[in-house]
Amino acid sequence: MRLYNTISRKVEDFVPINDRKVNMYTCGLTVYSQPQIGNWVAYIYSDILHRTLIESGFKVYRVQNITDVGHLVSDDDIGEDKMEKGARIEGITAWDVADKYIKVAAKESKILGLLSPDKLVRATDLITQQIDFVKGLEEKGYTYIIDDGVYFDTSKLDDYGKLAQLDIDGLQAGARVKVGGKKNITDFALWKFSPKDKKRDMEWESPWGLGFPGWHLECSVIARENLGDQIDIHTGGIDHIPVHHTNEIAQTESLTSKKPFSKFWFHNNHIKIDGTKLSKSLGNSYTLSDINDNGFSTEAFRLLVLSSHYQTEGNFSWKILESSSNRLSSFNAMADLQFQTNEKGVNYNFATAGLNLMKAMQNNLDTPGALTQISKVASDLEGKVINSSNSKEFRDYLELIDRLLGFNLSTRSDISTKQVNLLKEREVTRVNKDWIKSDKIREELLSQKIIVNDTSWGQIWHRID
Ligand SMILES: [Zn+2]
Repeated sequence: MRLYNTISRKVEDFVPINDRKVNMYTCGLTVYSQPQIGNWVAYIYSDILHRTLIESGFKVYRVQNITDVGHLVSDDDIGEDKMEKGARIEGITAWDVADKYIKVAAKESKILGLLSPDKLVRATDLITQQIDFVKGLEEKGYTYIIDDGVYFDTSKLDDYGKLAQLDIDGLQAGARVKVGGKKNITDFALWKFSPKDKKRDMEWESPWGLGFPGWHLECSVIARENLGDQIDIHTGGIDHIPVHHTNEIAQTESLTSKKPFSKFWFHNNHIKIDGTKLSKSLGNSYTLSDINDNGFSTEAFRLLVLSSHYQTEGNFSWKILESSSNRLSSFNAMADLQFQTNEKGVNYNFATAGLNLMKAMQNNLDTPGALTQISKVASDLEGKVINSSNSKEFRDYLELIDRLLGFNLSTRSDISTKQVNLLKEREVTRVNKDWIKSDKIREELLSQKIIVNDTSWGQIWHRID
C-alpha cells in the first residue's frame, strides 16, 4: 500500500513499525456544538484509510480522542475555551455541553457508516496523566511559567516545526507583539491557569495552580497512554499541520528523548461550500440533517466527499450533491441485478474488477479512481442480466465495494413476493400482447418505486433510491 506522508512530503510504501500491526491515532471532534458537514469530511477520509488498511491485511488498533476541554476559539492559546463558550450560549454547563454533543457525534458517525475506533477517549478522563506529562517536560527543562500558564519553550528544539516545514525565523520576525508574554511566537500552553475573576465549569488542581490542560497536550497523552511512545499513523485535517500536530510532535518527542512520534502523518484537505470557504458566520455550513431534509441520503454525501481525492480541496453544493445522488442510484441499480441472475445472462470479470478497485485504493487512497471504475462496471452492466454461474463473483465484488467504501450495495434486500408476482403477471401480458395491461402493471410498480425495462433478456427492474 502506498500513502502520502506529510512529514516526508512523499508518497511512500506503508510499512508499520511492527510487522502487520498498525497503531492508528485520529484527532477527534471538539464537542462544543452541532457538527457541520465540513467536520465530517476528515472522519470520512480517515474511515476510508482504516477500511483500506484492514482490507490490505493489516491488523489495525485505532484510538481517537474527544476534545471536551481546552480547545480555545483560536487554535492558538488565546480566546475563550470552545466548551465554556458553548455552555454560555446554551445556558448549561460545559460538562452538559460535552455530554450532549458526544451523543450527537456518536449518532451521526453511525448514520455516516463510519467504522468505530477501537477506543474513544475523552480529554477530561486523563487529567492526571496530562499533569504528569507536563511534569516530565518540566524536569527536562522544556517549560516556563508566565501569568496565564505553563508554556513549552520551542526554542529548545532544533527541529521544531519539521512537520509543517515552518520558517521559524520568519515567523519570529513577523510577530509584532509577543502574545501574553510568551518567549517565542511558536511557544504554546501546556497548562492554562483559570482566570482569577471567573469560575470555570472545568478546572483542576495542579502543581502550578488551578487550571486546565492546553489543547495539544491531550492528543500526545492519549496516544502515548494507549499506543505507546511511537505510533504508525496519525490522522487529521491539514489545518492541524502548522500548530496542533507540530506541537504534539514537539511535546511527545521531547519527553521520549527524540523517538519519532508517528511514522506516518495523514492529512486530509477540506471541503468548500458553493466554492467558498466554509464559515458559520457566512451561514453556508450545513448539518447532516440539512442533507436529509433536502431529500438526500448521507451515503450520497459520503460519495460526494470521496469523489475528491483526500489531498485535494473538495466542493459541496446542492447541485453536486444531486449528481452524487444520481451516481449512487446507478450503483444501487447495478446492485439490484444480484436478484435477477439467470442462465442466459452475461459473464463479467468481477475478479479483475475487484483487483483493480483494490489497486486504486492502495494507490494513496485514489477514491475518485475507484468510483470511476465502479461507474464503468455499472454502465457495462446496464440493461443486462448477469449469468447465474457468475453471481457469487458479483456478490463478492459488491461486498468488496462495501467494505472499502462504506456503501450498502451487498446488503440490499430483494423486492417483495407481491412485486415479484406483479412482474410475472406483466411477463404474461407481454406474451399475450396485452400492452394496455402491461403498461398498467408498469405504472403500479413505478408507484412502488420500481422501474421496469424491457430488454432482449426480458424484464429488468431496479429501484429508485
Ligand atoms: Zn489532536
